[in-house]
Amino acid sequence: MSRATTAEINISALHHNLNRVRQIAPHSKIIAMVKADGYGHGMLRIAEHLPEVDAFGVACLEEAVLLRDAGIAQTIILMEGFYRPTELDTISKLNFEIVVHEPHQVETLLKTKLTKPLNIWLKIDTGMHRLGFPPEKTLDLYQSLNSNPQISKINLMTHFSDADHLEKSKTQNQIELFHSTVKDLSVDTSLCNSAGILGWPQAHANWVRPGLMLYGVSPFKNKTGMEHDLKPVMTLRSDIMAIHDCQKGDAIGYGERFICPESMRIGIIALGYGDGYPYHAPNGTPILIETTKKAVPLIGSVSMDMLAVDLRQARDVAIDDAVILWGDGLPVEIIAQHAQTIPYELLCNIKRRVRFEVV
Ligand SMILES: *Cc1c(COP(=O)(O)O)cnc(C)c1O
Repeated sequence: MSRATTAEINISALHHNLNRVRQIAPHSKIIAMVKADGYGHGMLRIAEHLPEVDAFGVACLEEAVLLRDAGIAQTIILMEGFYRPTELDTISKLNFEIVVHEPHQVETLLKTKLTKPLNIWLKIDTGMHRLGFPPEKTLDLYQSLNSNPQISKINLMTHFSDADHLEKSKTQNQIELFHSTVKDLSVDTSLCNSAGILGWPQAHANWVRPGLMLYGVSPFKNKTGMEHDLKPVMTLRSDIMAIHDCQKGDAIGYGERFICPESMRIGIIALGYGDGYPYHAPNGTPILIETTKKAVPLIGSVSMDMLAVDLRQARDVAIDDAVILWGDGLPVEIIAQHAQTIPYELLCNIKRRVRFEVV
């Protein structure tokens, strides 16, 4: 028998989540964000099962080319545009759309001879201060690009910095600044990531850009996807590979981070940080025994290939019993809270040696 460490990718959950986006933003077209290898789920695996979305969003040309080469025919948008002028040739040949956010990109666009006219997304910085043009420069930029025959269509977009904080006024300010910037232009617009889609319906506009919620996960702290009727697409599994009866005072694993307070049974699970499980998960992080749906606590430091659990409350567990590290029945949001990180990071960290199974 080979190592049981697998990431199950549930396509019906993916479709369910896409339908949730449609229900929540019924008047918007959908850009499915599949950057960073589809948030760790496998970019092609996800994209080939979303034939009905309007577009895909990626971070860079390399990701876009992988999608096209795999036969993905939909619009593909490079969210960071091009880094080097040499990329423009491929961008135009393969019909990619690009986000334009820096003056050097505008200069290059205006002086480079393209094979075909290009659709672009002009990014306005309404307060994230990461990428984008200042709102007051937008009109001039729009006009100089719009008068260039190489540019076939210009859409306008912005990105929220705090949409996951419903109590803050920042997002409303960003929405108002964006709308006052674009109000005299007849263009398509896009503002919302997952938190925007779920929390700020007044900003749905023509296009929405769901990432995390497509994978069934909540962008809000202290919430899980379930609370938005989303279903986890990834379930990370392994099994119990060893069971030991330890004595009071025995130290478990590297650095003696857990000392047995009494004689107790412990289990060793075939999965560690070398598979993408967070090293920083503390004692007590829940791990689900699949057959009983009972959570047992992690104990001791996470190793590269293994981790240990306390089996005092699960005496009937046997070798080869399956466990769930996150996914079905154990939201990745909970693990992220324990490990003091965000679910985005956990999903993106899944390593190549984990076997993927599409169901
Ligand atoms: C990644 C990304 C998104 C998706 O964000 P989620 O929080 O995962 O929904 C949307 N827009 C842009 C520009 C992005 O880079």
